[in-house]
Amino acid sequence: MTIIKLHPRLDSGIQDYPEVAGFAGGTLTCLCESDKVAVKIGSQTLHNHACGCSQCWKPENARFSIVAVASRETVEVISHEEKLAIVDETAAIQRHYCKDCGAHMYGRIENKDHAFYGLDFVHTELSEEKGWSEPKFAAFVSSVIETGTPTSKMADIRNDLTNLGLPTYDTLSPELMDLIAAKAAELKGTLQV
Ligand SMILES: [Zn+2]
Ligand SMILES: [Zn+2]
Repeated sequence: MTIIKLHPRLDSGIQDYPEVAGFAGGTLTCLCESDKVAVKIGSQTLHNHACGCSQCWKPENARFSIVAVASRETVEVISHEEKLAIVDETAAIQRHYCKDCGAHMYGRIENKDHAFYGLDFVHTELSEEKGWSEPKFAAFVSSVIETGTPTSKMADIRNDLTNLGLPTYDTLSPELMDLIAAKAAELKGTLQV
């Protein structure tokens, strides 16, 4: 038994939210009691993962967020857009959050030279539908130290994540780091395919 809280969805076991083949998206709603912001995603998500960075939105007391991406053309605010604001306009990812409840509804990259341009960052736990892509790895694990996790807990946290089937990385996964490096190479003119 561990008392370390990773994230409610991870602590209860990710098997409760299995990925469904052919799942075609759903609607995220914010945490307000009424007048909820709603964001429709018209596709399955990709690259879902636990993230330990300090920027991603996470539920109260969670050490990790769970964040995935969806193609920006499939992401549409369908109600109460007036409640949205951007956390930090200067950040690479412009996180649009609900001013009333604080939930991040989608994060968008406007820099066309960014490796992840065209992908919006979303938290599918804000959806009641089941079938979204499951978290497959944990990123920026060491960063939870910066948000107040004692270093003495890190071995347990890495063990817990590994036992859930999530390989742990202190940056992004190798696959995503390769995408970032490939974009840098493309901009430098050194990309070999
Ligand atoms: Zn809200
Ligand atoms: Zn993050």
